[in-house]
Amino acid sequence: MMMPPHKNCFVDGKDITVSFHTHPNTGKDFQQEPSLTDIRAVSDDFDLKGEFYLGELVISEQNLYMIEPAGDYHVIGATKVILER
Ligand SMILES: [Zn+2]
Repeated sequence: MMMPPHKNCFVDGKDITVSFHTHPNTGKDFQQEPSLTDIRAVSDDFDLKGEFYLGELVISEQNLYMIEPAGDYHVIGATKVILER
């Protein structure tokens, strides 16, 4: 996961509300869920603790996940259903 500089959860003076990355899903066995590295990258980043920051979206083939700033994650829903709306 590569992020631009985001000191104090701001980019160009604007609040960061969400970050995201995709899982490439190159085969059936590809991990859908956020990895431990993904979770730590969010929870251990002191510059992702802004007042309006909701968390990091992980867009995989099957599901959209949200990693919350404290490191919990949950399924938002099926990617195909949400992205076809
Ligand atoms: Zn990931």
